Amino acid sequence: MEPCACPSSAGASTCDRTPVPAADNTCPSCGQAGKRVESQTLKGLLAVPLTQLRDVEYRFCRTLDCAVVYFSVDGVQQFAEDAIRERVFQKHAADDAALVCYCFRHTVGVVRSQRGGTNSGDVVAAIQAGIQAGQCACDIRNPQGSCCLGNVRAVADSGRDS
Ligand SMILES: [Zn+2]
Repeated sequence: MEPCACPSSAGASTCDRTPVPAADNTCPSCGQAGKRVESQTLKGLLAVPLTQLRDVEYRFCRTLDCAVVYFSVDGVQQFAEDAIRERVFQKHAADDAALVCYCFRHTVGVVRSQRGGTNSGDVVAAIQAGIQAGQCACDIRNPQGSCCLGNVRAVADSGRDS
């Protein structure tokens, strides 16, 4: 048996405190590491009463075929897509109707249709212009809680390969 690590009884061989579960950064459903999201992002994206939010760390699961979108690292809570106000790009990355840029409402299909040709990069340029103008709000609009440009470029690149 491991010696107790409680501050008040360090080294004791027994402990009557309920052990605090170790924080787990991996999704309880798919086992992949989740990306940390700020509470601001959950407040903006959750479609459930925000009384359900607790003062714990939440993470975002980006796995395509995993139903979990957000989970708490203490293992207590998971939020699936039906609890989110937007369809989640990472769960529908092959769906032309899915949004990839939530601030300026660009869909996967639009980004993909711009591959090659003279219009290539128009969406990226439009997003960058919006960012410059202070019009983006990725932390409260994008389920991943951060800028979409990496995803936009990935969609554009994947379109180019096909
Ligand atoms: Zn997952």
